[in-house]
Amino acid sequence: MDAFIRSDQYHYIKNQAHILLNGHMTSNDSSVKQALKSMTCEKVLEQFSKLTDDEAQLVAQVQEVQDETDAILYFSRLKQYVTPFPTLYEDQIKALFPKAKKLKVPSIGEGDWKEMSYIGWNEPGTNRKYIVTYVDNELIGIEGHYTTSRHKNICTICHEQEKVGLFTSTIKGKTSDETISRGNYICHDSKKCNENIQSRDNLEAFIKRMKG
Ligand SMILES: [Zn+2]
Repeated sequence: MDAFIRSDQYHYIKNQAHILLNGHMTSNDSSVKQALKSMTCEKVLEQFSKLTDDEAQLVAQVQEVQDETDAILYFSRLKQYVTPFPTLYEDQIKALFPKAKKLKVPSIGEGDWKEMSYIGWNEPGTNRKYIVTYVDNELIGIEGHYTTSRHKNICTICHEQEKVGLFTSTIKGKTSDETISRGNYICHDSKKCNENIQSRDNLEAFIKRMKG
């Protein structure tokens, strides 16, 4: 069986398994538990448009999660089938930002690629943030001005309450000398943000909006 789970789907399944686990701990009613089990299974299977029998069987094992140990074992089995973010070389990333002459691309640890839906990093000296991901199989890089906010807020990309900052990008308007600025609050820590992502939809909508 090849890898078939996206990072965001993996996080979604983990979250559903935690909800189920919580149900086991807080309820003694077996019919309630049974209903929660089937609902969890249905929800995680719905995340996939097509699955082979083996794949569906693996995903459906979510309903067997009854305690913390089951969860750990299940997550590690699942993770073997998570598709890592495609490896990118520094030159490929630099080519996305031709205007940034002294771009410092961060090194990303080996184990983290399966947790990633995008690559994102802050450049403190210049107050800029960079984001690289694939949208419709095309590698896209966006950069913007970034100011850290003093208060926690909902991140546009992962929809969790996190330490955020305002990301502003300037795009071309209808006429050649017109520009439009667009801003959204997004996570300061892109690694944390990636771990929160349970659906790529918000990420892709954000990228498209910032690209203009
Ligand atoms: Zn986030």
